[in-house]
This record gives sequence, C-alpha cells and structure tokens, in this order.
Amino acid sequence: MTTPPLLSAQGLHVAFPGRQGAGPARAVDGVELDIRPGEIVALVGESGCGKSTLARALLGLVKPTAGRITHDGRPLDYSGRALRAYRRRVQLVLQDPSGSLNPRHTVYDAVAEGLRIHGHAGDERAAVADALSRAGLRPPERFFLRYPHELSGGQRQRVVIAGALVLEPKLLVADEPVASLDASVRGEILALLLRLRTELGLAALVVTHDLGLAWNIADRVAVMYLGRIVETGTVEEVLTSPRHPYTQALLSVLPEAPGTPQILTGEPPDPSRIPSGCRFHARCPALASGEAERAGVAEACRTTDPGILTPGTEAQSACHLSRTGAQPAY
Ligand code: SF4
Repeated sequence: MTTPPLLSAQGLHVAFPGRQGAGPARAVDGVELDIRPGEIVALVGESGCGKSTLARALLGLVKPTAGRITHDGRPLDYSGRALRAYRRRVQLVLQDPSGSLNPRHTVYDAVAEGLRIHGHAGDERAAVADALSRAGLRPPERFFLRYPHELSGGQRQRVVIAGALVLEPKLLVADEPVASLDASVRGEILALLLRLRTELGLAALVVTHDLGLAWNIADRVAVMYLGRIVETGTVEEVLTSPRHPYTQALLSVLPEAPGTPQILTGEPPDPSRIPSGCRFHARCPALASGEAERAGVAEACRTTDPGILTPGTEAQSACHLSRTGAQPAY
C-alpha cells in the first residue's frame, strides 16, 4: 500500500493581476503534487517557471486562486492560529543565509526566534542546543553568542536550518538551499539534508534550477514549465530517461551531458500569455526538428493541451510525443 501523502496540492492555481493590461499571470496553473513522509522531492525548472510561487503556496504564504492544499489529509486552514500551527510543521529554508539572518542577532537568538514566536513552553536553551547539534554545529554552546558575520557561509546556512529544525517540523521547503554557497560546502549541506531525513524522517521539497542537485538529493523529481508540472518520476527515471522534450533540453546543457546541447529558443515563459495547445510548443525542439510531425502529433502539439499529470509514483510526461513511445532523435 502507498503511504498517504504528508502534503498534497490538488488542482492548484495561483494567479496574479497582469501588468499593463495583460491577462492574469497564471504562475501556478493546475498543479497536482504529493510529498510523502520522509520523501525528498526536487521541483526543478527555469527561473520564472512558477516553482517558487508553488513553494510559497505550499507554505501557506500565498493563497491559491483555485484548488487546495492538504496536510496530513486535511485541507489547509488559512485562519491565523491554524496557519501558525501549520508553519511549525512545514518550515521554509531560504537560499541566502545572509539575507535570512539578522546581523544583530546572535546564533542563539536566531534559532530561538521561532520558539518565541510560537510560545514554546519547554526548555528553550536545550531546544536551541539540540537544533544546532542536529544541524552539525557542535558543540552548540560554542556558537550561541556568535554573530552571522563571524561564521562561514556553510555555518550560516546550518544556523538557518537549525532555526527550522528547532520547531520539529515534518517537512522542509528549501528554496535553492545551496545556490549561494561555494561548491566545497554545497555537498556538506546536501549531506546534512539527507542525514536529517534518515535521523528524523524529515521530508523535503527542494526547489532548484539545478538538475545536478536534484540527482544528488532527491527521491523524486517534478519538472515545472510555465506553471505546470510537465514531467515527474523517480530521480533515475526522469534524469536518466527523460521523456519530455523540456526535461531533455535542460539535461542536454549540463556540462557532463553527452551529445549536442539543446539550447532553448523563443521568448522566455510569460505566465500571462500561456500558449494554446502544449504550453511548450513554441520552444519545443521536437516540434522544430520535425520529430513531432513524423510521429503524427504536431497538430495536437499546437492545439491540444497534453493535460495535467496526476499525483502518483509512476513516471509521467505531459507530452503528446512521449505518449506515442517515440524517442526524439537528438
Ligand atoms: Fe513538444 Fe508536442 Fe511534446 Fe509539447 S506535446 S513537448 S510541443 S512534442
């Protein structure tokens, strides 16, 4: 039997008013996503694809225009008290630790802040020490009175993670968690997230533009394009046998990728002008190369939405061509 999801997005839409007379910007446009206890899901896509808006919606920071989010099987309640309780369980870890930490707060105060906001009744000092230890800052007391500028980038990110852990969450939403760090410490922070999953059963949604990072940390990958998840599956399925031309193009430009890089052409995605048919069709290498024509799906590519992927563990691709079983010849 499949484990019920810890967090689930069902038919989720988030739209913002469009600029200069344009229609609404459909930043999230029909997303179905499950995250199970202890599972690490990487949400990948280009900048502007809607992945950060989706993450903010999952955190309850943005209210969906339509659809719903469920946590432990119950719909997310947006009333103040319920939302506060939810945010204990689902914690955000931001990309830039320098921006997340107040330079005038000591490490102790930074980590204790969440406990104070949530009116923690237990032993604050013990909880802060435990969170710092779990985040790999040992002995924790040595860090209590330090200020962010006295720490390395990796140590600052560990303080941010400790600030999340102190509330004993079940899930971390990590937005580009290592993007601002040196290559030498990236591996350490990723190893920490994996260790927390093993030790605490902590699930994570890792939002990233970096498919290499997804490979190193995720169990499952969801690839997002223009507000929608267009491919999903296990990390092996998606990254070693990608079926959607968008995923194939993203993978082809990695330094270690074999073959010719597929540089995506065309305008960057504009969520207030989502094309009809397949939303990727104006930039799709398989359509441009004639592959879709030869497989008999080119007309469908231009006119018929390949649809919304359903949550589940099996590999799926929102692409007419991949459903024919044809493999693009590039
Ligand atoms: Fe390309 Fe057609 Fe697949 Fe869209 S549906 S990704 S246009 S082949």
